[in-house]
Amino acid sequence: MGIMERMRLDGKVSFVTGGARGIGKAIATAVAEAGSHVAIVDMDIDEATKTAHEIADTIGVKAIAIQADVTVKEEVDAMISTILDTFGKLDVAFCNAGICMNIPASEMTAEQFRKVIDINLTGVFLTSQAAANVMLKQGKGSIINTASMSGHIVNVPQPQCAYNASKAGVIQLTKSMAIEFAKKGVRVNSISPGYIGTDLVLEAPHLKVLIDQWNAMAPLGRLGRPDELQAIAVYLAGDTSDFTTGSDFVIDGAFSCF
Ligand code: NDP
Repeated sequence: MGIMERMRLDGKVSFVTGGARGIGKAIATAVAEAGSHVAIVDMDIDEATKTAHEIADTIGVKAIAIQADVTVKEEVDAMISTILDTFGKLDVAFCNAGICMNIPASEMTAEQFRKVIDINLTGVFLTSQAAANVMLKQGKGSIINTASMSGHIVNVPQPQCAYNASKAGVIQLTKSMAIEFAKKGVRVNSISPGYIGTDLVLEAPHLKVLIDQWNAMAPLGRLGRPDELQAIAVYLAGDTSDFTTGSDFVIDGAFSCF
């Protein structure tokens, strides 16, 4: 069988948190195009339902929407139960939901700091742990966490200490879980995107005014697009990446190289 066929995900079951829009939607669409059934998990159930319908109607796989806040363990557990009740198994988990706050470190409140860590790091822990507990029983599964180039570099000029710390945490959490599960068939990797033109960036008034400055610093001179993360997502979800675990894939147009 050729490589393109071996990369297909026919019959697999995946979920994507933060899957209603942006990077998560691009990932969900990509794994569906490769043949996986998919659960779109988001706080925003209306948008998640729209995305699930779009995927089911245009691609033909089964797609469902589930409302869950990744910071609430009971909601994460309920989300896993819905997936198992619907599909009977779970092959691929994309723990992708995340937020950014740009507040100087000297002014950030404990509550603001905790909120970013809670969604971006604890949320990834809770969703990847819940997924892993199903996959460990199955003896197979692939978990892919969305980190960021901000886990490697300090972005400027905007102040975002909590975000940077949370994403560095996601990279180490990923490696730690990969080591614990390596001999049990469960792989854990992360994707670290550079600046990508999604709502998180384009719709935030304090961020969109910085785009020209970022582009001036960027070796490629532009933002990335969500679709430019699709191939790595399909690769990590599928069986051709069976030797790939504990890795972080920086997809940032060389932004973090200097
Ligand atoms: P978006 O804001 O476009 O999408 C994020 C999605 O996550 C939204 O649908 C949001 O729902 C959902 N979400 C937020 N909080 C929770 C929660 N507690 N539980 C469940 N879902 C939640 O962001 P992006 O697509 O740009 O970002 C996706 C991931 O990629 C994030 O982890 C981000 O940090 C990371 N990333 C983004 C980069 C970029 O430049 N865009 C660069 C590097 C990494 P709602 O709208 O209802 O809040």
